[in-house]
Amino acid sequence: MTDVVIAGGGPVGLMLACELRLAGVDVLVLERLTERVPHSKALGMHARTLEVLDQRGLAERFLEGHKRAPTTHFAGLRPLEFDASATRHPYMLLIPQAHTERLLAERAAELGVEIRYGTEVTGLAQDADGVDIEVAGGAPLRARYLVGCDGSRSTVRRLLGVDFPGTPATLTAMIADVTLDDPPATPALLARHPGGQAGVLEYESGMYRAMTIEYDTVADPDVPVTFDEFKATFRRIAGTDHGMRDAIWVSRFGDAARQADRYRVGRVFLSGDAAHIHNPSGGQGLNLGVQDAVNLGWKLAAAVHGHAGEDLLDSYHTERHPVGARVLQNTHAQVALSRPGHAVDALRELFAELIRAEEVNRRLTGLVSALDVRYPVDGAHPLTGARMPDADLKTADGDTRMSRLLHSGRGVLLDLTEDPALRSAAAGWAGRVDLVPARHTDARLDGVDAVLVRPDGYVAWAAPTDVTLPHALTTWFGPAR
Ligand SMILES: Cc1cc2nc3c(=O)[nH]c(=O)nc-3n(C[C@H](O)[C@H](O)[C@H](O)COP(=O)(O)OP(=O)(O)OC[C@H]3O[C@@H](n4cnc5c(N)ncnc54)[C@H](O)[C@@H]3O)c2cc1C
Repeated sequence: MTDVVIAGGGPVGLMLACELRLAGVDVLVLERLTERVPHSKALGMHARTLEVLDQRGLAERFLEGHKRAPTTHFAGLRPLEFDASATRHPYMLLIPQAHTERLLAERAAELGVEIRYGTEVTGLAQDADGVDIEVAGGAPLRARYLVGCDGSRSTVRRLLGVDFPGTPATLTAMIADVTLDDPPATPALLARHPGGQAGVLEYESGMYRAMTIEYDTVADPDVPVTFDEFKATFRRIAGTDHGMRDAIWVSRFGDAARQADRYRVGRVFLSGDAAHIHNPSGGQGLNLGVQDAVNLGWKLAAAVHGHAGEDLLDSYHTERHPVGARVLQNTHAQVALSRPGHAVDALRELFAELIRAEEVNRRLTGLVSALDVRYPVDGAHPLTGARMPDADLKTADGDTRMSRLLHSGRGVLLDLTEDPALRSAAAGWAGRVDLVPARHTDARLDGVDAVLVRPDGYVAWAAPTDVTLPHALTTWFGPAR
């Protein structure tokens, strides 16, 4: 019996597979397609995703050769400026999804993950010990756990009978990745016109993503769009098509927003687009899904290794469902702020004034980059539940930073006062939690005596305020040996 089978080898399934394998779990990815698609839905990667990649020693390979946008936007309103004191990645990385998937597949191969292409999950049945999985045209498989990372039309979600409530599409958006003979002097992905929105963005040298949005018209998602139709729509809205040619990909999508009402049913979980869909405004879906995977991976690994209770597995839904709901809400708000009409023009003017205020700017940047995610973790310390700052540290092994201490995928108990009591308190969790005595010069850690950091980089406990270290260790890392 395989420990964990993952249905779907998109970015979320691949990230989850890497997390599980890193933790020593036997994992098999089943991917319906026979090979990776060359085109890319997502182009934008946000700061928190880069931070979680940094926590596994992977950020460099994603950063290499890709452009960094120093600002981002909310509903096209610019600039949202990243706070360079809050993250080592104060930008949005322009990385095509196909590159992200290739890099994650390479990492999965390095770790020894098996990806079985051309294998479609078609059925499942779970009992107390595992899940029987049917695949089209192949022998059934059995796993201790199954995770549906099989995208917006998830078969796993349907087979579980999990509801996917939300709102239907109200607009038609189209994209084409093209070459332009006559590019605009200042490319902008979405310029407002009376008939909708249209624009282009240079995502790689000489390659442009062109996009149109028409409101209050909903195309049949099952009817493929042609390049001629795309060009005609672009010209109708923008008055020119900038001499676009040689489309490598044309696609259509809407703003339907739906979220699975349960992310876990027994031994089966949902992650990524299988758990939530929304309009791509602000480039958040892949980021959200990768962070689902990083939240679930270590918890599921702990269950496989026999030291996670039901509460830890349930905390995946408790922590990630509200984060997904917040993304649905902010994309709804961005669509509302993008619609045509005088009332929305007035609202945009007001909003443009507001985002010039530093606090509003920071709030919105925190929202779309997911740097502001906080989990409902017990404890009164301001760090508890938040992401651990990637502080520079001095340890017995030399200079390092917090993110490097998480490369192993284990928890870290950072001892900033060389307190001998911590060593004996943490002894029962050796192998699951690394005790690291360290000194720092980072103002964000001033006054902090010790911090327990989960493998996903969120703070589970901080001293002196949170007093119950054994309770926190047991909650997040299981009973002491
Ligand atoms: C135009 C557009 C632009 C976007 N831009 C951004 C952006 O800039 N930033 C961002 O963060 N997000 C963006 N997104 C969203 C992002 O593309 C998705 O959120 C992301 O692809 C979700 O990844 P996933 O792995 O959950 O699902 P998917 O990428 O859909 O992968 C699911 C995989 O499961 C496989 N599969 C399906 N059914 C089965 C089955 N039964 N058995 C086995 N395998 C199966 C599929 O073949 C597929 O490979 C954009 C989306 C669109 C449409």
